[in-house]
Amino acid sequence: EKQPYDPDNIFAKIIRGDAPCVKVYEDEAVLAFMDIFPQSEGHTLVTSKKAQATNLFDIEDDELKTLIAAVKKIACAVEKALQPDGVRIVQFNGAPAGQSVFHIHFHVIPVYQERTERP
Ligand code: 5GP
Repeated sequence: EKQPYDPDNIFAKIIRGDAPCVKVYEDEAVLAFMDIFPQSEGHTLVTSKKAQATNLFDIEDDELKTLIAAVKKIACAVEKALQPDGVRIVQFNGAPAGQSVFHIHFHVIPVYQERTERP
């Protein structure tokens, strides 16, 4: 079920600078920062600074294109810096699907075989 965008969600606060984050990458359209509860070393969240969108259902195509291009850039940087065995890109839509922060974002999750840290 679709829920209205709440401009006071935690990621909106981070984007505004009203809440802290460990910044990985920023440009005029995109902010990437470390997940506060990382699933593995290097777990990064990539979010749109412009889209007032809860998730995939209400983001404009042009904003999604910009965001997914940044996801690729960060996944490539993570791959190069941390040399994981693989990289998982994850994105949840709706609380029943596992979404807990209702501002569009992608997870970039390095995967290390049989471990959660790089060797
Ligand atoms: P999702 O909505 O995609 O299921 O999950 C939101 C993600 O945001 C979770 O992985 C959670 O650990 C992360 N998260 C929630 N609150 C904060 C926060 O205040 N700062 C950061 N850096 N990550 C957060």
